Amino acid sequence: MKTFVHRGQVTKVVFGSGTRSRIPDEADALGCRRVLVLSTPAQADQAAQLCELLGAASVGTFAEAAPHTPVEVTQKAVAHAEAVGADSVLAVGGGSTVGLGKAVALRTGLRQLALPTTYAGSEMTPILGETEGHRKTTRRLREVLLDTVVYDVDLTLTLPAPISVVSGINAMAHAVEALYAQDRDPVAFLMAGEALDSFARALPVVARRPDDREARADALYGAWLAGTCLGTVGMALHHKVCHVLGGTFGLPHAETHAVVLPHAVAHNAPAAPEAMARVARALPGDDAASALFDFSGRLGAPRALRDLGMPESGIGQAAELVVRDGYWNPRPVEPAAVRALLTRAWAGEAPRA
Ligand code: NAD
Repeated sequence: MKTFVHRGQVTKVVFGSGTRSRIPDEADALGCRRVLVLSTPAQADQAAQLCELLGAASVGTFAEAAPHTPVEVTQKAVAHAEAVGADSVLAVGGGSTVGLGKAVALRTGLRQLALPTTYAGSEMTPILGETEGHRKTTRRLREVLLDTVVYDVDLTLTLPAPISVVSGINAMAHAVEALYAQDRDPVAFLMAGEALDSFARALPVVARRPDDREARADALYGAWLAGTCLGTVGMALHHKVCHVLGGTFGLPHAETHAVVLPHAVAHNAPAAPEAMARVARALPGDDAASALFDFSGRLGAPRALRDLGMPESGIGQAAELVVRDGYWNPRPVEPAAVRALLTRAWAGEAPRA
């Protein structure tokens, strides 16, 4: 018999192809009459199209979302939302834009909708990471949970293949760590396994044919599941390492996840046999860590932190930060082991326990 606690999700999810046409009805169902559409500068056209779709229920766009949710951008967006009398925000984009929506909602109490266009999964979590100066802080706050998430596979077709691959592996990392989370529960375990199966099938096809709608649907389904796992159970060593590397050296988010995952799994494997068996069902191989390493290598994902701009001299500092205030982890995290793990990940070597 297992003893567990499971927290259900409050966010309404709509999934399919062409589902963005339901945005006006979904906004209306929440009582939203003045929707501000958020995006990055690169997705400003998409945001403008959503304004058109919303018609009289739109109060325009704010297209300045940036990576790691800088507080200055949030303050500007809040002032804009107040100036136009917005009663809600609709984020169209990846984790950066969804993060901006959460940060605005936290400060204003506005309702939140999102149309996710990457596999990052932030739309399903109560997690808000923000940066002020060079400091990134991450909090779990129920107030930032979204009201409605509309997944429209069609909006993911334009995500370039290399970004799709690393974004997908970023989502797989949420699923892998959910399998061995301290507070894992049977539902999160099932969702995490299903997410890994989806990405194992979908990403090789997406990498070759980014416009394959079936594979895109499979990957987006995996992203929803993996994001839900990230929102429901705690993460461990892998997420801690990526958080430190992103915050300290400004390394790119999804790419860093892609490089670190096999190494974190190699460290944790001896302490998490049930999780490793589930990873192996999705990605058969000698062991879970090498299967993940081979999978990302075949897809052309980056393998070395040095190629992402990390200085070799930063390995010691990063190891110290990982060990200090570390997250719970299935296997103890010793400074020497983290240094060895980071040294291998920096050089692009194969993972080892
Ligand atoms: P991103 O949101 O920064 O997007 C990367 C780039 O791709 C942007 O320029 C974006 O406009 C563009 N793009 C997105 N979708 C596109 C599409 N379909 N077609 C063409 N271009 C597209 O990247 P991301 O990896 O989705 O998000 C990373 C950020 O999200 C990080 O700041 C990370 O910390 C955060 N994050 C937060 C959580 C959470 O739960 N709070 C979870 C995961 C990630």
